[in-house]
Amino acid sequence: MDGPGPSWTTREVLVNEERNERGSTSWADRFDLDRPLPAEADVVVIGGGVAGCSAAYQLSKRGKKVVLVEMRGICSGASGRNGGMTGGGTMVPTQVGRAVFELNTENLRLIQEELPAELGEDFSLRLEGSLDIAMTDEQWDHLVATHGSASKAGGDVELLDREQLADIVPVVSERVLGAKLSRRGGHLWPFALVHAMANGARRNGALVFPWTPAQEVLTSNGRVTGVRTSAGTIATGAVVVATNAWTPKILHDLPAGAVVPARGQILVTQSVGPVLPMPFGTNFDKEYGRQTATGQLLCGGYRRLDIDEGLGHYEERVTAPVVSGIAECLSGIFPGVGHVPVIRAWAGIMGFTADGLPLIGSYGSADGLYVSAGYNGGGFGMAVAAGKAVSQRVAGEPEQLDLTPFDPSRFASRGVSWDNPFTAGEKSNPKSYSESGAIRSESSAED
Ligand SMILES: Cc1cc2nc3c(=O)[nH]c(=O)nc-3n(C[C@H](O)[C@H](O)[C@H](O)COP(=O)(O)OP(=O)(O)OC[C@H]3O[C@@H](n4cnc5c(N)ncnc54)[C@H](O)[C@@H]3O)c2cc1C
Repeated sequence: MDGPGPSWTTREVLVNEERNERGSTSWADRFDLDRPLPAEADVVVIGGGVAGCSAAYQLSKRGKKVVLVEMRGICSGASGRNGGMTGGGTMVPTQVGRAVFELNTENLRLIQEELPAELGEDFSLRLEGSLDIAMTDEQWDHLVATHGSASKAGGDVELLDREQLADIVPVVSERVLGAKLSRRGGHLWPFALVHAMANGARRNGALVFPWTPAQEVLTSNGRVTGVRTSAGTIATGAVVVATNAWTPKILHDLPAGAVVPARGQILVTQSVGPVLPMPFGTNFDKEYGRQTATGQLLCGGYRRLDIDEGLGHYEERVTAPVVSGIAECLSGIFPGVGHVPVIRAWAGIMGFTADGLPLIGSYGSADGLYVSAGYNGGGFGMAVAAGKAVSQRVAGEPEQLDLTPFDPSRFASRGVSWDNPFTAGEKSNPKSYSESGAIRSESSAED
C-alpha cells in the first residue's frame, strides 16, 4: 500500500489525540482564538465539521467575509470520528437518486482534483474501489439484485465469488459467499480534509473560532440579523447552519424527528502490513471497515446492539455490546487478522434524517438562513459538494446541482414520517421517532 510515510504517521496520531481531548486549546486547535470575535461578517458559519469547513472555504473563495464558530475543536464532531469511507456513489434512476448521484460525483471531483490542487494538501485519498461482502444467502441475494440495477444504470460494479474475493483479500473467511465490487468507492483521512478546508478558508481571509458555541440565530422582520455566541454577537445577513446532529438545538422550529442524533461506534487495531486493499461493508452496509494509510484496521457498525439502536443519544461513549459485536464482525470476516490487538474504540454522533437525505439549501423560516446538515452515515460523499452548492446560493451564482430533494424546509410542509433507510433492517426496524426522544418500533407503535 502506497502510504504517506512515517512522519505523517506521527502527525496523525498526535493530531487525533489532541483534537479529541475536550477543552484542548493546543496550537493545533487555536485557529483565530487569540483575536477578538468580529462585530460583523458577511456570513457566519455555525459548525466546524466537513460541512461547515467546506461552506466557509467556498464562501471565502467567493470573496465573502466569513466567520466560522465551532463549539468544540475543529473536526471534533462526527467528522473526526467516522470511518473515512467516501466515493462516487451509485446511480439510481429516479429524481432523488440522480440528485444524490450528482452530489456524490461533484463531491468526488472536488476531493480528488480541485481541492488537493487548491489547498496543496494530501487527504490520503485512496480510490481502489469498495467491497460489499455477503455472509448470508439473504445478503448475497441483495448484492445480486443491487448489482443488476446498478449495472443497468451504468454503474461500475462487479460481482465476485469467494475465490475472486480471496484473490483481492486473502485473509477473508471461508464462510464468506462473495462480494460486490464498486469501482467508484474509496477512503480518506477525514482530519486532513477538514483541516485543509479550514486553513484554506483562513488563507482567504475567513476567521475560525473553535470553542465558541453559537447560542442563537438572531432574526428581525423575517431576516437573519446576527448570531449570538458565547464570545459575543456577530451582526450578519447570512448564516449557514452546519451543526449536523445538533441542528434541532439551533433551528427550534425544525419538526421533531426531522434530524435525530444517532451514535455510531468504531474500533481500531494495531498497525499490520497491507491486508485490506479497499474498504468493505457487510450486512446491508450496517458493518464497515478499512485499513488506514498507517496500517490500522478500523471497523464500525452494530448500532442495533446500542441502547435504542444508538438513536436519540448525544453522549459520545462506547458501549461494550457494540464494541464486542464489531470485534466479532472483523475477526469473523477476516479470521486471518483476528489475532491483531484492538488499541482504541470511540463513538461519534451522526445526524440521521427522517427520510435519509441531507438538508442542503435555504431554510424557510428567515431570509438569509441556510442549512448544510443531516448527513446520516455518508457526509464524506456529500458535504464537501454541499458546501459549494450552499455558497453558490448565498453568493447568488447560477446553481450547478439540483438541491430540490434536499430542501431543509421539506419536513415542515410534508410532515415527518420516520422511514430512514439506514435504520431499516436494524433489530427493531424503527419506523417512527417520538418527540420524547424514544424510538418506537413498528410493533410497539401499534401497542
Ligand atoms: C462512527 C461513525 C462512522 C461514520 N462513517 C462514515 C464513513 O465511513 N463515511 C462517511 O461519509 N461518513 C461517515 N460517518 C458520517 C460522517 O462522519 C458525517 O456524515 C459527517 O461527518 C457530517 O459532517 P458535519 O460537518 O455535518 O457534522 P459534524 O462533523 O458533526 O460537525 C458539526 C459540528 O457542529 C458543531 N456544533 C454543534 N452545535 C454547535 C453550536 N451551537 N455552535 C457551534 N458549533 C456547534 C459540533 O461540535 C460539530 O463539530 C460516520 C459517522 C460516525 C459517527
